[in-house]
Amino acid sequence: MRSEKYDVIVVGGGPAGAFLCYEMIRLNPQTKILLIERGRRVEKRNCPEKQIGKCVKCKPFCNITNGFSGAGAFSDGKLSLYNKEDDDFYVGGNLHKYVGVVETKKLVDYTDSIYLKFGATEKLEGVSYRSEVSKIRKLAENAGLDLISIPIRHLGTDKAHGIYEKIEKYLEESGVEIIFETEVTDILVENNTIKGVVLQSSKVVYSNTVVLAVGRVGANWLLKMCDKHKVKTLPGIIDVGVRYELPDKTMEQINKFCYEGKFIGKPAPFNDKVRTFCQNPSGFVTTEVYDQNITLVNGHSLKDIKSENTNLALLVSINLHNIANPMLYSRNIAKNINLITGGNVIVQRLGDIRDGRHTWTEQLLENSVKPTLKSAKAGDLSLCMPYREMMDILGFIQMMDKVIPGFANEDNLLYGPELKFYSNKVELSNTLETSIKGLYAIGDGCGLTRGLMMASASGVYLARILCNK
Ligand SMILES: Cc1cc2nc3c(=O)[nH]c(=O)nc-3n(C[C@H](O)[C@H](O)[C@H](O)COP(=O)(O)OP(=O)(O)OC[C@H]3O[C@@H](n4cnc5c(N)ncnc54)[C@H](O)[C@@H]3O)c2cc1C
Repeated sequence: MRSEKYDVIVVGGGPAGAFLCYEMIRLNPQTKILLIERGRRVEKRNCPEKQIGKCVKCKPFCNITNGFSGAGAFSDGKLSLYNKEDDDFYVGGNLHKYVGVVETKKLVDYTDSIYLKFGATEKLEGVSYRSEVSKIRKLAENAGLDLISIPIRHLGTDKAHGIYEKIEKYLEESGVEIIFETEVTDILVENNTIKGVVLQSSKVVYSNTVVLAVGRVGANWLLKMCDKHKVKTLPGIIDVGVRYELPDKTMEQINKFCYEGKFIGKPAPFNDKVRTFCQNPSGFVTTEVYDQNITLVNGHSLKDIKSENTNLALLVSINLHNIANPMLYSRNIAKNINLITGGNVIVQRLGDIRDGRHTWTEQLLENSVKPTLKSAKAGDLSLCMPYREMMDILGFIQMMDKVIPGFANEDNLLYGPELKFYSNKVELSNTLETSIKGLYAIGDGCGLTRGLMMASASGVYLARILCNK
């Protein structure tokens, strides 16, 4: 480390932290910034599952979710933009609630231009078929569903990696000091004012401005920090669900016309909000590991290697009202699924769930939809998924079948659990400052955002505030 005191310390080098550094150094090249990242440099990140066919739970941290560019490096790289005519933001989080819709649109445009500068593809998905999308929207409405279709810039997992590598290099060459494979274990607070951070070696680094950009993977740690230092938090909504895999052929129209159609419905009897999320045409289901012991499912699609299946998340949003730690509720679901699979995730045929049957490995060999996540354990999700969420998902699948015939085919696959750890919200001012003076929070970890574009834009927004201070 070059110094003991910095103008700004950023914890977490995901898209939020990286774009914060980019904009700060552009506006004020003299700023002394220290970015601390517990994972590796992006070019050293590698998930062994590709080579050996199963998750080995990398130590000390999962390479899919930790390291420069955070969960962005192995993400599908779908940058969610917006429709010019929309007067709200429906995708990516809540930045607009702090900044306003008009300002958020400008931030997204600007952030998008940075991605383009570092090599993102010019092509936009989901913009060319307005009348076809209108027809699908009508069908959806008749089935009791809303359809949100926005422009998407699709980097692809393989391309996203390269773009973030260029950003990492650019930041270092521009004078941002980045230390890798170093965890921040605590923050230093005196008289309700931030003073610095404590590293895993017990070394203290000082600054009057600390930004926590720790992502979902750091959300549990952030919650502990909030408890310990009395940082104010707000109750949040939890998202519990599964990754659904079905043939590209079934999803052909949606993939072609919307690229990523986001459907939202409220199936009876509970009327909870259920939505589709992160749709990956010709993609692959993947795993991700949180806090070294919780294995979840996710999905991505690659630019060059294609499967014959589309995967997407089906997420149920549940408000647990004033429960102190909603994240613990979702973590317990994951723990039970991991427990009965020996640390793995479950895959089950839709037809078997309906018939109250376990799915067996041999059955999957005969199944018309072949699982793209080979390491998932064939089993019975209903042993661990709460009844309410399971009913919500099954009801939603039936509603979707009215819009997309074949969506409820018995050979389609459900993988569980897919959970989103952004349920613990940190209370933030409009300048994204927490209740501790000088301590700021951005990105997914504090519940502000839920995707690459808005996480990156939250970094840009805060950089401008800090540079104007
Ligand atoms: C497989 C997968 C696919 C996805 N696909 C998409 C997609 O197509 N489109 C989309 O919009 N979003 C996608 N996402 C979500 C997207 O990646 C996140 O929304 C985004 O990365 C959030 O950015 P962030 O900077 O807030 O946090 P993160 O990207 O999670 O980064 C946080 C960083 O902080 C570091 N950190 C945490 N705690 C500490 C600590 N105590 N000390 C030091 N460092 C710490 C972590 O190592 C991590 O690198 C996907 C995510 C996954 C996992």
